[in-house]
Amino acid sequence: MTTAAAWRGRDTTLAAWAVRDEQTRGRVHAESGHPYRSPFQRDRDRIIHCRAFRRLMHKTQVFVAGEGDHFRTRLTHTMEVAQIARTVAACLRLNQDLTEAICLGHDLGHPPFGHAGQTALNRCMAEHGGFEHNLQALRIVDKLEHRYAGFPGLNLCWETREGLLKRCSRRQARTLGDLGERFIRRRQPSLEAQLANVADEIAYNHHDLDDGLRSGLLEPGELMAVRLFRECHEEAAGGFPRADGGALVSEAIRGMIDRVVSDLIETTSANLKEAMPGDADAVRGWPKPLVGLSDPVDERHRELARFLTERLYHHPRMQQEYARGGAVVDALFHYYMSHPDEMPGRHSRGRERGAEARARAVADYIAGMTDRYASRRCRAVQS
Ligand code: MG
Repeated sequence: MTTAAAWRGRDTTLAAWAVRDEQTRGRVHAESGHPYRSPFQRDRDRIIHCRAFRRLMHKTQVFVAGEGDHFRTRLTHTMEVAQIARTVAACLRLNQDLTEAICLGHDLGHPPFGHAGQTALNRCMAEHGGFEHNLQALRIVDKLEHRYAGFPGLNLCWETREGLLKRCSRRQARTLGDLGERFIRRRQPSLEAQLANVADEIAYNHHDLDDGLRSGLLEPGELMAVRLFRECHEEAAGGFPRADGGALVSEAIRGMIDRVVSDLIETTSANLKEAMPGDADAVRGWPKPLVGLSDPVDERHRELARFLTERLYHHPRMQQEYARGGAVVDALFHYYMSHPDEMPGRHSRGRERGAEARARAVADYIAGMTDRYASRRCRAVQS
């Protein structure tokens, strides 16, 4: 058995502008290397094995988790994002392990009940620094997970943490050291992080459309107003003249994802050939993101997003669900602010340290809840 790191040297297959395993800025707490896994493979594996990752299974993406067996949850959404991004990363010779690690961790900080939960928790935390799920993902991997004897959190590499921090206000950025710098100096993240962001949008736009149809809140007929759908549906109908309506819709959605992802590969590849950034740091200093769609496909993709906002996310039934989820988060927050002792173990430790620390501890506790656990806790504290 060899003791030399088997993963070393694989970097030769990467493009010049990819993040290279051996050039990682490292971890906050120094650790020795692994003989068989690269630093970013280890990050990916740490995320897969953490508790926050398993909880994604019972968290809402758009349709409340548990409402139907076939709707996406935050876990299956996360896997679809990773699948899309890995395909693109392989074609562009980017660091696939880093891309996958960022994708698998990108939604770890989401509270229960999707965006309704995020909005409610942010409102509750207005006086205490607010709540933002990207920052929460970072809190989870830096502080809140307890799996290792030698350090708090997962001790991920700088580049993985850079990718998890998709958005951040300049005020918050100032508290994050060199990780927050890019929001102050208006720099870009790595290509792997840019890719994870775009793959997230592609995944949710298409699977929300699919779930919206499954739920009956959207009708295939009204989708004909969306150019991307109409064009791909016509193509499917031409290719499969005897297929039934349901199969054609599935083919159309499959064709849409394929068209957008193919365009992402081709456009980004052309952008990179024109820009020729010397390395990953040159990408960070580039005046604009280099991962992106061509104008015609970007326009169509945005049109799809607008359609979903108007017809699905703003649908009265969805709004009702959101209001219910928001009310649960609201009730739990106010209850635990006045009963901090009732939070389990380490969450209740902040209770003596003033309102700010208490509120953050309550937000950490609630943000970690799954939909069903939050609903159960809410019923229990209100009974
Ligand atoms: Mg996402």
